[in-house]
Amino acid sequence: MNDLHGLRALVTGGASGIGLATATLLAERGAQVAVLDLDPSTAPKPLLGFTADVSDDASVRAAVAAAVEALGGLDILVNNAGIGAAGTVEDNPDEQWHRVLDVNVLGIVRTTRAALPHLRRSAHAAIVNTCSIAATAGLPQRALYSASKGAVLSLTLAMAADHVREGIRVNCVNPGTVDTPWVGRLLDAAPDPAAERAALQARQPHGRLVSADEIAAAVAYLAGPAAGSTTGTSLAVDGGMAGLRLRPA
Ligand code: NAD
Repeated sequence: MNDLHGLRALVTGGASGIGLATATLLAERGAQVAVLDLDPSTAPKPLLGFTADVSDDASVRAAVAAAVEALGGLDILVNNAGIGAAGTVEDNPDEQWHRVLDVNVLGIVRTTRAALPHLRRSAHAAIVNTCSIAATAGLPQRALYSASKGAVLSLTLAMAADHVREGIRVNCVNPGTVDTPWVGRLLDAAPDPAAERAALQARQPHGRLVSADEIAAAVAYLAGPAAGSTTGTSLAVDGGMAGLRLRPA
């Protein structure tokens, strides 16, 4: 049931981190995969790269149309592109709120809008959104990012309700702290990156960062026939961070 041969997938933000791991795994399982990214050049073959900015509707429409043409249709959409922001409500100016919500929330809306006519023609249509434990965990210093991912969670549920009768499933994954270039950049900005990494690992209930491959496996499950009766759910892949109600020692 993990076999994805015959299915065609599009992964936004597919040139790095979670998106790249997901696109790679979907392809390994037999799907034809296109990635949509600001810079898709780092996505290796057989992934098909398409340049687009999810905050620009015209570029999304053009890239989705080109990807669907190259793939010969579309069965799986992974809305993964996203950006971060640190701080409390006092720290982020309005422009930053608009920017992050534009990419993290409206980016999903734009890509989904462009993809839906094609997904309706699929017999195995699925959408997986990359959310975050920030949607529900009440993380400090992440007001804007958390609000954006809270919106992604609500949007996932609403989209699942709107399209269930059309045979289009919609789910999301809620990653914890994942070892991607994004987190690497944050660690590199610390005075002592190695010590910061050790401290970050120690804060995880299971004692290590989540791997991008672990998120990819969850996305591939939700996107494929094994999850054929699963829609409107969020799957936490976070070492227990959100569900166990543990606090750092
Ligand atoms: P990453 O920075 O390694 O990769 C993100 C990719 O998205 C990049 O290739 C980037 O070019 C692309 N991208 C960014 N803005 C874009 C835009 N406007 N249009 C098109 N592409 C764009 O990040 P990652 O850690 O792999 O994160 C991917 C997703 O996972 C994000 O939605 C993020 O919020 C979510 N997430 C990450 C973590 C984590 O700990 N890394 C945790 C929870 C959720």
